[in-house]
Amino acid sequence: MEGPDELQCPFCTAEFTESAFLADNNFVAVYNIAPILPGHSLVVPRRHAESLMDLSANEVSGFFGFAREATRQLLKAFNGDGFDWSLQEKESAGQTVAHLHLHIVIRRKGDLEETGDWYPLVEQSENTLLDSFSRKKLDNEEYRLITNRLRKMVSGGKNL
Ligand SMILES: [Zn+2]
Repeated sequence: MEGPDELQCPFCTAEFTESAFLADNNFVAVYNIAPILPGHSLVVPRRHAESLMDLSANEVSGFFGFAREATRQLLKAFNGDGFDWSLQEKESAGQTVAHLHLHIVIRRKGDLEETGDWYPLVEQSENTLLDSFSRKKLDNEEYRLITNRLRKMVSGGKNL
């Protein structure tokens, strides 16, 4: 059943979930439409859960296991040697789309002047998330190329 929240949620649209490069029955990993660094992606539960606190214990374990696999693939695809994860919960923490999402930021030595410079960038990207994904910019050619390349890499994976 879809409530009003789901109807207005950019992460509950078919366009969004169909743009996944990695997916299973419960979660999708989607390349960020405006990546702060190459590889920047989002992991999102398929069902409209606003908060990590709304997931069952099984879902929490599924979420982080899935996120780890997505990160593993992104590290390979973008020659990363490290990564940052970030999860904003509620407006006070900078959450803009009220649907749980984990940012995966793939890191390489020297990619930013200071290693901590990624966080303000993620905060800025939060501000554009709602805009970017609700305006359906997903027909962007470069975006499609990256997603297709990632899909090929993970095609050993399930449900793609
Ligand atoms: Zn949603």
